[in-house]
Amino acid sequence: MAARISDLFHRRPFMRIFSGECAVHGQVDMTEVEQLDGSMLARGCKRCAWEALHTTPRDSAERTLATAQRKAEDTMAALIGAGITPRFAEATFESYRAETDPQRKALAKCRAYADQFPANFRAGRCLLLTGNVGCGKTHLGSAIVRAVVADRGEALIIPAGDIVSIARASMTPGSGYTDHDVVMHLAGLDLLVIDEIGCQKGSEYELGLLHNIIDRRYQAVRPTVLISNLGHDGLKSYIGDRALDRLRQNGGQQVGFTWSSMRAVA
Ligand SMILES: [Zn+2]
Repeated sequence: MAARISDLFHRRPFMRIFSGECAVHGQVDMTEVEQLDGSMLARGCKRCAWEALHTTPRDSAERTLATAQRKAEDTMAALIGAGITPRFAEATFESYRAETDPQRKALAKCRAYADQFPANFRAGRCLLLTGNVGCGKTHLGSAIVRAVVADRGEALIIPAGDIVSIARASMTPGSGYTDHDVVMHLAGLDLLVIDEIGCQKGSEYELGLLHNIIDRRYQAVRPTVLISNLGHDGLKSYIGDRALDRLRQNGGQQVGFTWSSMRAVA
């Protein structure tokens, strides 16, 4: 059951098996695996890879290469599982275009939040990224998730609408899970980044679900990052005072993205 809930939120990379010819092992099953940018990468002969990892001398170039490949693959899978989409495959702090003071300030705050994540995690300190569409909020949210995943944390970035869809689907007969399972799974992650807050209608069910998740994470002292196109007042009236208070506790910061869209000038 627990594995199932996890699968609903943390996608595994697509994999395709095909028959290929290995110079050493002859006709073998080969696989190609999805990369973060959505492309597929052929992995070559599985037996060759296993032998390079396990039977070559420890300090050989072959072993080093095989180990690096395995590590890159694990990282890729972890990032896909953390909800990083192909569109944000390259989204890091380094690739964020900050040309004006407000942009540099937003970047610095998000980078600092990721750099100090161990302390933020212990304090359950949250972050609110609010403001105009196309200012790179999801880019920076993805960069934070990336940093946490690189540090072996369990993080997820997900649009609020997807959480609602998965929770609603629990009501389908035979789904095998409840929306309470959804809340408990999301409450247990080291970092949860909820994107596109306020893009939904904000029905009683949607808001109740959102409040539940925010509240559970607050009770468990776990940090949440909220991303919304709503401004300060809009967000306040959308999620309400109580949830906003919870997110601001313990030094939770709000970063305003107040300039006009970067996509328009790009
Ligand atoms: Zn082979």
